[in-house]
Amino acid sequence: MIPISQPELGPEVEALVLTALRSGQLSQGPLVAEFEALCADMAGTRHAIAVSNGTVSLELVLEALGVGSGDEVITTPLTFAATLNAILRSGARARFADVRADFTLDPESVDSLVNERTAAIIPVHLYGLPCDMAALMKLAERRGLGVIEDSAQAHGATVEGRAVGGFGIGSFSFYATKNVTSGEGGVITTSDVHLSEALRTLRNQGMTSQYQYETVGRNARLSDVQAAIAIPQLRRLDVINTARSMNAAYLTRALSSIGGVSTPVVPPGRTHVWHQYTVLLERGVERDAAVARLRAAGIAAGVYYPALVWDHEVYRAHPQVVPADTPCAADAAARCLSLPVHPALRPEALATVAEVSISVLTDCCRAG
Ligand SMILES: *Cc1c(COP(=O)(O)O)cnc(C)c1O
Repeated sequence: MIPISQPELGPEVEALVLTALRSGQLSQGPLVAEFEALCADMAGTRHAIAVSNGTVSLELVLEALGVGSGDEVITTPLTFAATLNAILRSGARARFADVRADFTLDPESVDSLVNERTAAIIPVHLYGLPCDMAALMKLAERRGLGVIEDSAQAHGATVEGRAVGGFGIGSFSFYATKNVTSGEGGVITTSDVHLSEALRTLRNQGMTSQYQYETVGRNARLSDVQAAIAIPQLRRLDVINTARSMNAAYLTRALSSIGGVSTPVVPPGRTHVWHQYTVLLERGVERDAAVARLRAAGIAAGVYYPALVWDHEVYRAHPQVVPADTPCAADAAARCLSLPVHPALRPEALATVAEVSISVLTDCCRAG
């Protein structure tokens, strides 16, 4: 089976992890500091705060911004549950704006939902494609809103040459399946020194120095062993992103011959880092059957996401969830399908993904 994601760690990671293990400093050591420096570099910010995972990073930013009960946060319904869980944990209500045809948040739809309770927006750079950050930042400034970029899937993606995570406050994940991984891990990126200090305090039990408690904090620290896993990948992030982008270009050339499949679009000015390569099947095609047939033929196709994030039993009647009519996102959820695009795909495997996909999807579109 060709997997939908596959970490490719290599000898540099092995060597640095061994260095971490032998250093005797497994947490709050120099490797976390180096990881943070590389992350600040990636996002083009002055500061980066390493945390234990991408969900906690969203939670800490909401807390540091003072978002809570009585507030509203606007995000996309086409995202992973972590985005919504972080909002709900803050005590705020979650509202959902629609997406555009490129799957990212539609600034006009966001604008129509803003009211006096709106505190922040969380654009998600879905599949590795940045949102329209120029329009979203303009709107946020005009309306006085915080902007948290959920960049869990978009390490190193850019808009007009500027990296994601540096427009608003950046939140990244280093979970096992992300483009850069530490197994579990996260980072917050910002150029605001006060925010950065507040986040460091919140991350470490509310302490500014040993036993000096400034606030009620928590433990959201990353270990040096985890930092050691990510550092060599961050150093070669350009190489990783180029490989993903070449794989995506290959798939687009191959799949554009199938009438019933829309290949992904990248709006001008934005670079896509291809966390997922996601196509839309034409209406009427049995997606579940297509996925099952791809899997039977050895391609681990995925669906991100089969439903809008709030459209699950636990969220539907949740008092902090405001269901919304978002036809474009609903349509994407019904028709999207992702194919392996990761850099561990060798040319032969990539050719297999393309050939099998052409054959299966052409057949499914004919049947549908
Ligand atoms: C993975 C992911 C997260 C959460 O990150 P974790 O490190 O798994 O907690 C948040 N948002 C999006 C869009 C993600 O894909």
